[in-house]
Amino acid sequence: MLLSFFITKTMFYANIYPMSKIQDNKMEEIISLCKRRGFIFQGSEIYGGLSGFFDYGPLGVELKKNIENIWWEMFVTKRDDIFGLDATQIMHPKTFEASGHAKNFADPMVEDIKTKKKYRADQLLEDLGEDVSSMSPQDMDSFIKEKGIKSPDGNELGRVTKFNMMFSTIVGASGDEDSRTYFRPETAQGIFTNYKNVLDSLHPKIPFGIAQIGKSFRNEVAPRDFIFRIREFTQMEIEFFIKKEDWKDHFENFRKSTWDFIEAVGINKEIVSEFDVPAEDRAHYSEKTIDFEFEYPFGKKELFGLAYRTDLSYFDQQTGERFIPHVIEPSLGLERTVLAVLTSAYHEDEMNGEKIVFLKLPKEIAPYQFAVSPLLKNKPELVALAREIYENLKSKGVRVIFDDNGNIGKRYRRQDEIGTPSCITVDFDSLEDQTVTLRDRDTGEQKRVKIEDL
Ligand code: ATP
Repeated sequence: MLLSFFITKTMFYANIYPMSKIQDNKMEEIISLCKRRGFIFQGSEIYGGLSGFFDYGPLGVELKKNIENIWWEMFVTKRDDIFGLDATQIMHPKTFEASGHAKNFADPMVEDIKTKKKYRADQLLEDLGEDVSSMSPQDMDSFIKEKGIKSPDGNELGRVTKFNMMFSTIVGASGDEDSRTYFRPETAQGIFTNYKNVLDSLHPKIPFGIAQIGKSFRNEVAPRDFIFRIREFTQMEIEFFIKKEDWKDHFENFRKSTWDFIEAVGINKEIVSEFDVPAEDRAHYSEKTIDFEFEYPFGKKELFGLAYRTDLSYFDQQTGERFIPHVIEPSLGLERTVLAVLTSAYHEDEMNGEKIVFLKLPKEIAPYQFAVSPLLKNKPELVALAREIYENLKSKGVRVIFDDNGNIGKRYRRQDEIGTPSCITVDFDSLEDQTVTLRDRDTGEQKRVKIEDL
């Protein structure tokens, strides 16, 4: 703790938050806001931080849950052909052999011979402006040698090797290698292994889907860009089982509904685009993939993926038929959504020479929908009425915060900064006529509203 006192802001971000090229200071401002106001903290921060792991604070967890709820409502609750699931994160090792991840889930890695620092070879080359989309690890190796490319510290680079990104662990007390297995690298594995259970218990007819929100783990070689590339993250995934001949229609439907979700959570659509991933860059199982890309402050990067995963062999014991459903997979990373939402919502303005910050979050996902304040903290009758309104809203399931710190201007600034759309202020008139001031975050407009109409 004491040490951090001596670390400058720039050093802090450079060391704890490795970034691509920061193009402006928006990313630093967002990271700083997230920490200051309790959205997101570096994981294990008091012990110096663990790279690639982040914790959600009290406001972050509300934001995250609201986003998850919108997704769940849109794709599970409101549909009758997609069913929910919550499978375990550690699974039988045969799962990963069957899915191909034991063999194929690897990134090209290269080491600085002097410092021993490891880099993703593709990212290193991309940062130098090279197009790596059609390069294999061997191609990258030859390219680095031919061009004499050095590490970011100016040293010689070693050979490009493949690094499997799954986290492993040993299950049980024996400690022997036969008990070694993995944390799932995508939630999809839990869905595929429960396909038959869902089929046997609910008897859905094709086409139908299974949806899951859960943690995934990837031992990324170079985690970076705040919560963009991390090692433990949450995915919102659907496997939608279809007949082969219908894949294009279903793919198109999910493409459209992904745009609906983007709009519903308040991501700026103007800076989202689709990228048709070329064959050599697609996952080993996919025949068509679209990446939805977002213009983050550190560049245009993948937000979500939509993949046609082709087939899944399934033997129906009752009919004796081997049926092969094909699969469409919309796969959304929650943290990348949170970051795109924050980037879209973040606005700065100036008031009396002072910078003020707004998070223009949609009311459906803002951590609090309302803040309730008494005009003066030391007038018990104002505090009592404000408390009553607060309790009443809370009991109705509204996300509301009671704020009586500082003067009213400061409270508005504080609520603007965490994205609270409306502030309710109780003043002396409220005691007479049972009305309050309702102030809008985005327009600053204030109007009198009857308490009973709130
Ligand atoms: P990238 O190319 O950026 O590594 P990917 O193509 O490997 O991503 P997928 O396997 O398609 O990613 O995973 C589906 C989604 O999960 C991604 O679109 C992203 O939203 C999220 N995701 C994947 N890896 C990470 C990560 N390391 N940190 C945060 N989110 C991730």
